[in-house]
Amino acid sequence: MDQKNADTTISVFDFFEMFPDESAAIDYFEDLRWGETGVCCPGCDSNKVKRLKRRPYHLCSSCRKTFTVRTGTIFERSHVPLNKWLYAIYLLDTSRKGISSVQLSKELGVQQRTAWFMLHRLREACDILAERMDGTIEVDETFVGGSKTNMHYEKKKKLPPGPLGGKEIVLGMRERESGRVIAYPVPDRSTKRMSSEVLRNVERGSTVYTDDHNGYHKLNKWYKHRTVNHSNWQFAEGDVSTNGIESVWSVLKRGYKGIYHHWSKKNMERYVNEFTFRLNGKKVYNHFMDRMDDLLSNAIGKRLTYKELTAKGD
Ligand SMILES: [Zn+2]
Repeated sequence: MDQKNADTTISVFDFFEMFPDESAAIDYFEDLRWGETGVCCPGCDSNKVKRLKRRPYHLCSSCRKTFTVRTGTIFERSHVPLNKWLYAIYLLDTSRKGISSVQLSKELGVQQRTAWFMLHRLREACDILAERMDGTIEVDETFVGGSKTNMHYEKKKKLPPGPLGGKEIVLGMRERESGRVIAYPVPDRSTKRMSSEVLRNVERGSTVYTDDHNGYHKLNKWYKHRTVNHSNWQFAEGDVSTNGIESVWSVLKRGYKGIYHHWSKKNMERYVNEFTFRLNGKKVYNHFMDRMDDLLSNAIGKRLTYKELTAKGD
């Protein structure tokens, strides 16, 4: 871990002092989920609940169902103790490029299949900090997957607007002031698509920087649109550049090549979420515990079953 990172996270030693066992992790998550409202039934929202002697169960007097802090979250129906889940979040946050399921299975002492499933469930909750952007925003798209991952700009420009073979188009927006990034796969890069996606994420009237891909040519209807002309090598004219979002792509691609090797089309969005979580968290929050709290809060109300994950299309 480098020095810069050390200020914003905790040591492995500190982590295990905070979460020495599953009980500590349950207390932590219960406090985060119900600390302000009091324990509340995830099934019917009733506050008439009591804690059963058999930890960590609660019984709802209204609907007579038992539940735990995991009920109605990505952690439901998992046999992995909650402290291992929290440690998986820690590893996901502190790794530079991501963590493979093989590596996670060794760190946690679980089967690789279990680790793989855990990572996907965590990614499901990684889409934090996705509120609309304003100010100056760099917008760019890239291709992920297959051999054209590191395609030269000139080649990329000549490609048709739709998806290509096994490659996926990922659209990204980076807010200059905060460094915050929103990115996700899109089915094509047509003018209609690019316009509607930027409108969905960026406040009208903002300043938008893109390259000269045709798909962006209508943005000047709603934005102060400036174009970086890569083909004439006029990079970074004044402060007009897309260097920020392009550096995000290079991190994403290093992770893809170095750690994951292959992302299925179906799961691409979750992988991209994981990368933006790592990038955004470190820009916006000072500390690991804030990033973990946000991920845990975002894990409530989400489910991802093994069946959904392994359904055809993978
Ligand atoms: Zn209930």
